[in-house]
Amino acid sequence: MTDTSAQTTRIAIIGGGLTGLISAALLQREWTTQRNHPLRITVFEKSRGVGRMATRYRKPQTSSKQEWQWAMGVQSFSAKSDAFKAFIAPFIDANILAPWQSRIAHIKEAQTKTVDSISANIRTETPEHPRYISSPKMTSWGRAIADSLTHTEIQFKTRIAPLTDSILDNQGATPRTKLYDEEGSSVGVFDWFICTAPNVQAAELFADTSFTAKDKILIPSMQACYTLMLGWQDKAHLPSCLQENMRQWSVLSLADGILDKVFIEHDKPEHGHLLPSVTIHADNAWSEVHVDDDQESVHTHLLKAAQQVLGWTSNTAPNHIDLHRWRYAATTGERLNDVPLIDKNKRWLVTGDWCGAGSIEACYQMAAASITAVISAS
Ligand SMILES: Cc1cc2nc3c(=O)[nH]c(=O)nc-3n(C[C@H](O)[C@H](O)[C@H](O)COP(=O)(O)OP(=O)(O)OC[C@H]3O[C@@H](n4cnc5c(N)ncnc54)[C@H](O)[C@@H]3O)c2cc1C
Repeated sequence: MTDTSAQTTRIAIIGGGLTGLISAALLQREWTTQRNHPLRITVFEKSRGVGRMATRYRKPQTSSKQEWQWAMGVQSFSAKSDAFKAFIAPFIDANILAPWQSRIAHIKEAQTKTVDSISANIRTETPEHPRYISSPKMTSWGRAIADSLTHTEIQFKTRIAPLTDSILDNQGATPRTKLYDEEGSSVGVFDWFICTAPNVQAAELFADTSFTAKDKILIPSMQACYTLMLGWQDKAHLPSCLQENMRQWSVLSLADGILDKVFIEHDKPEHGHLLPSVTIHADNAWSEVHVDDDQESVHTHLLKAAQQVLGWTSNTAPNHIDLHRWRYAATTGERLNDVPLIDKNKRWLVTGDWCGAGSIEACYQMAAASITAVISAS
């Protein structure tokens, strides 16, 4: 994959989440139409996979061929702008993204009442904008974008080490950045450095540099989210509020408690084959306060709250329980006005969903704005 052409523009993208992948996709498309010299993109991702649209599976210990499945991060996303709708259209045509017409129920008093006891007061709605899920798994879309990249190499399990001003080579006509991994090995020299890490991690990468927009990185706050994953052995053993004939909803939005939303996974399109699987996101503010607590105690608190709302008994208790902690899940507080942070002299750019609304559509918007900035400054 090494490109020896002196003419080639080399771009490093830190992060193989949706912002990084969409940035690579838009960059290769725009570059080939606007520039006539070669482009080489390298995406560095510290984990083993792309995208944060994570899916977890478990098989029960019985000989069942079925399994549980939970979309443990983002559950679904909306596409409001025409540009984002156009970007996702080929993936909808390829059946990788599917619209999901969920019915959302809103309940208050979740701290003290079960869903059954207040079902008469549940308000249900169908969202104004269709929401999309990735199929057959939430990870499928990220993989499909990665597979479509032609000028790009993705290096997994490579954590880029914090930058310093001394890694900049200003000898040529334009500055170039030499990057190192956390073992101190050089991973290449690049004409542009694009960082899509969550803002706390981005701040660590630039802490010892004179990056001009460094002070703005921590303006938005990011809050944590705990995710509970519950599985039942069959539909007959579900608590009554989760039985299909008793339920008018597939998403339950809870106010006033430590839980935020309950999602019925086996209701989603093409998910009917699953064993009953329910994902519950905890409230972001509660998760942030308890982010470093003992995980056993968090587990106990969340499970108690879930049992309070869903009202299971010993006969209808879940057969599988799992917990995941997302340290940087939701963007809150002051916004950065949907613009990436750029230092044109160094050719360093910092972007990510947190520069915008902290959503999948924000990943697209920030990727598009970042690529426009890079191409116009190149
Ligand atoms: C629980 C939860 C629920 C959500 N619900 C919704 C929803 O309903 N709708 C919606 O639209 N969005 C939702 N989101 C938000 C959505 O998931 C994010 O907007 C999106 O995934 C952010 O993508 P990103 O590429 O900007 O960041 P990330 O996915 O965080 O990608 C950044 C990548 O950078 C990598 N990285 C960091 N530092 C380094 C380094 N030094 N070297 C190499 N790699 C590095 C990380 O490993 C990571 O993969 C939810 C998120 C969570 C966690």
